[in-house]
Amino acid sequence: MQLNIADTFNVELPADKNKNNSPRQVFDACYSFVTPKVPGDAKVIHVSPELAKTIGLKKEDWESQKFANIFSGTEVYEGTNPFSMCYGGHQFGHWAGQLGDGRAINLFEIKNKNKRWALQLKGAGETPYSRTADGLAVLRSSIREHLCSEAMHHLGVPTTRSLSLSLSGDQVMRDMLYDGNPEYEKGAIVCRVAPSFIRFGNFQIFTSRGDFTRLKELTDYTIKHFFPKIKGQTKENYIAFFNEVVTRTLEMIVHWQRVGFVHGVMNTDNLSILGLTIDFGPYGWLEGYDNEWTPNTTDRQHKRYRFGNQPSIALWNLYQLANALYPLVEDPKPFEDALERYKAAYGIKSSFMMGSKLGLEEISDDDLPLFKSLEEVLSLTETDMTIFFRLLAGVEKTDTPEAILKKINKAFYLPNELEGSVLEQWKDWLKMYSARLQKEERSDTKRAIEMNKVNPKYVLRNYMAQLAIDAADKGDYSIIEELYQLLKEPYAEQVEAERWFAKRPEWARNKVGCSMLSCSS
Ligand code: AMP
Ligand code: MG
Repeated sequence: MQLNIADTFNVELPADKNKNNSPRQVFDACYSFVTPKVPGDAKVIHVSPELAKTIGLKKEDWESQKFANIFSGTEVYEGTNPFSMCYGGHQFGHWAGQLGDGRAINLFEIKNKNKRWALQLKGAGETPYSRTADGLAVLRSSIREHLCSEAMHHLGVPTTRSLSLSLSGDQVMRDMLYDGNPEYEKGAIVCRVAPSFIRFGNFQIFTSRGDFTRLKELTDYTIKHFFPKIKGQTKENYIAFFNEVVTRTLEMIVHWQRVGFVHGVMNTDNLSILGLTIDFGPYGWLEGYDNEWTPNTTDRQHKRYRFGNQPSIALWNLYQLANALYPLVEDPKPFEDALERYKAAYGIKSSFMMGSKLGLEEISDDDLPLFKSLEEVLSLTETDMTIFFRLLAGVEKTDTPEAILKKINKAFYLPNELEGSVLEQWKDWLKMYSARLQKEERSDTKRAIEMNKVNPKYVLRNYMAQLAIDAADKGDYSIIEELYQLLKEPYAEQVEAERWFAKRPEWARNKVGCSMLSCSS
């Protein structure tokens, strides 16, 4: 396995001079060199061949022992210097100081077809940023990260990717529900891939410490490699950079809302500077449409990171990034303007997104009541978001509300609740929708084709990941592969996979891992 190593982060930016791997505060550095922990008995259990090819690997590479060694941390690839990044962050709205890669170790960067990829192990042991934790990851959370990163990519959502999933062969102690019942679980290691893993928190840590030299070095590095259209180290360019981060973050959030993804821990250390979905922890997928829903039990009380709050939390995080970049510009106005723009742009982009989900070729302000009242009717009785939008493509312009209700019936968890005022409100909305469709010039067939490009048929429902986890725990990795294949084409009609186009089964409603997840992974 020959890799085209092209390191920049650990070459161009300042390293921690201290090589000691024990938990500590790290100053004057963007990262610390760390060697991954050699696992007890590593075994690759799944690879994403699609991503492997993208980064320039061949089948014989990913099936080799060398691959298994490198991407489990058993061996360090020759000539490379693994490291963990120093970053800080706001957790649940409060400044938490230094966090850093507590269980992530960057292996190297490679270049393929003029594209740069950073490869990083998650769960490969302690780093100077591990604080009181062990630097390890368990199989259940690693399966969730591996499958969901790839699923998001195939949904067209900007995201970090996952190359491989390996068992470490070691046991890891976890108190899954934080209820004082720790148990041993299988340890695992995922190899994540992205152009870069830099987060908002990488900038924040330096500003919080008054280290504007490092702040500038990191910002210049980021612009040079990842925002190459911006040339020169001027104040205007730092603002241009911030504006671009605002745009990318906004686009990512609109995608999340489109597919019903709830990140669960949108702390500033979990927001990528490239606008990629990063850190798949206690994330979840909306089943019943519900703006109030969060999968994260740690956030159960305030629901800061609930589905409907994601757009404003992203904006809150962008404010923190603006504060972090402020010393490079020393003028609040352009930052304020950029943040104001986010608010207006979110309204516009989310309306376009909703218009496309409903199959409207063009939208105007006149359509806003249709969108608003849809959110209301979807919440009247538990209605499966994915199934609802997918089935809506089957609506014909001439359909009556009754006919449409028959077509979308499968989306309702409790069809019996569709009576009285609930039924009337649904019919009112469907009348509005039919009337609106009649103004569309496209044929029903053409509209359906376009709708099916933005309304996925298959998403990684929380219970589906859990089925893969339960089987894998017993040594059966077939569901991981089945779901990986299924989610490679989330918009396609896969007749043989109809069983995954179904509402969450009742057994999964309140099951740990399906509807309740904690950060403990
Ligand atoms: P998260 O909320 O999962 O993004 O993690 C927040 C911080 O805790 C980051 O600095 C992580 O690196 C760190 N962290 C999470 N889990 C572990 C672990 N098992 N060992 C060491 N650090 C961890
Ligand atoms: Mg994190």
